[in-house]
Amino acid sequence: MALVNENFLKLPDSYLFSTIAKKVNAFNVTHPKTKVINLGIGDVTRPLPKAVCEAMHKAVDEMSKAETFRGYGPEQGYPFLAEAIIKHDYATRGISLEPGEVFINDGAKSDTGNIGDILRHDNCVGITDPVYPVYTDSNVMAARAGSYEGNKWSNIVYIPCTAENNFIPELPSRKIDMLYLCFPNNPTGTTLTKNELKMWVNYALANDILILYDAAYERFIQDPDIPHSIYEIKGAGKVAIEFRSFSKTAGFTGIRCGYTIVPKELNGFTLAGEKVQLNRLWNRRQCTKFNGVNYITQRGAEAVYTPEGAAQVKENIDYYMTNAQILKKGLTACGIQVFGGDNAPYLWIKTPNKTKSWKFFDQLLYDAAIVGTPGAGFGPSGEGYFRFTAFGNRENTEEAIERLKKWL
Ligand SMILES: *Cc1c(COP(=O)(O)O)cnc(C)c1O
Repeated sequence: MALVNENFLKLPDSYLFSTIAKKVNAFNVTHPKTKVINLGIGDVTRPLPKAVCEAMHKAVDEMSKAETFRGYGPEQGYPFLAEAIIKHDYATRGISLEPGEVFINDGAKSDTGNIGDILRHDNCVGITDPVYPVYTDSNVMAARAGSYEGNKWSNIVYIPCTAENNFIPELPSRKIDMLYLCFPNNPTGTTLTKNELKMWVNYALANDILILYDAAYERFIQDPDIPHSIYEIKGAGKVAIEFRSFSKTAGFTGIRCGYTIVPKELNGFTLAGEKVQLNRLWNRRQCTKFNGVNYITQRGAEAVYTPEGAAQVKENIDYYMTNAQILKKGLTACGIQVFGGDNAPYLWIKTPNKTKSWKFFDQLLYDAAIVGTPGAGFGPSGEGYFRFTAFGNRENTEEAIERLKKWL
C-alpha cells in the first residue's frame, strides 16, 4: 500500500487566482460591453529582447548539426552562463564567486521550493508576511509548518511587514533556524537598505540561521543605495543562499531560466553539531534530481549580458517602471496610501476606509472594471491591502488611473 505524504492534504486549495478568474468571468457575462483592465497580472507582457531571440536561433542551428549538437549538459548549467553571471551580476558589485557556487535552474520557483530537500524537517522556519506563497507551501509539504489554525501555520514564525513597521521585518521573538527574505518584495514592492539587511545578516551570523534570499526583482531597483544581492553585506556568504531569475528581468517567464548561489563557505549542521557544506549537498541533490536547463535557453540567458541584450532588458524594465510611476502618482492623487513601486513593479495600497481586501476587489471590479490582487491572498498581514502590478501596457495603465480618479 502506497501511503501518501499527508502534509499535502493539510494545504488549503490555492483559491487566489482561480477565484479572481471566476469573479472576472462572472462580471464579463453581465457586462459584455465593458472593457476590464487587468492590473493583477504577475506575468510580464513585453516580448523577449531581440538579442536573446537571436542567440536562441543560433543555438537551435547548432543543435541541428551533428558537429555542434549537444545532448545532456552539466546539471549545474554551462560554464559560459555561470561565468557571465559572476562577471556581470556579482563582480561588478565587488562580490567574488566561483563557477561551482552558481547553479543554473529552470526558474526561481523550483529552487525556492526544492531547497528544503537538503534541510531537516524539524527546522523552525521564519517567513515575512505577506509574501510569495511558495515558501510557506513548500514547507507545509516538508512537514515543517505544523497545522493550519485559522489563517496561520502553527510552526511557522510569521514576521509581519506592514505600514506600521514601514515594511521592515523586525527580529522574531522566537528562535528560528531558517528564514525567507524576498527583496524587492512581492507583493509589497518594498525594499531594504543596506543597514536594514545588515541587521538580518548579523543576526543570522550570531544565531546560525540560514537565510534564503529571493532577489527575483533586483533588476527593478532604481535607487543606487539599495543592495541588489545579499552578498553585498559582509559575512552574508556564511549564512545565505540567493535565488535569482531571468523571468521578470528579461521576459523568461515562459522560457524558464534562473540561478541559485550556494557559497562554499556556507555551512549547515548535523544534529550532532558538525558542520556540513550546503554547496556539496545542493550539488548532490541537483545531480540526482535535475538534468540541467536546455542549451538553447542558456544561450538566450547569456545574451542578456551582451551590450545589446543589457540595453534591451533595461528598455523593458524602464517601460514597466514608468507604468509603476504613473500608477503611484495617480493613486496618490486619488488620496490612496501607496507603498512600493519605486524599486519594484508592484504597488501595494491600503484599501480606502479599511475595506477588506476581497470586498475592495469586488468594488473595484464592479465600479471601475479594474482587476487587482487582494492582499489577503499573500498572507494574514496582507488583509486590508491590495496589489497592483506595473506589468500591463501603457495605455491600459493610464486608462486605469482615469477610471480610478472618476470613481474615487
Ligand atoms: C516571479 C517570482 C519568482 C520567479 O519565478 P520563476 O520560477 O523564476 O519564474 C521568484 N520569486 C518571486 C517572489 C516571484 O514573484
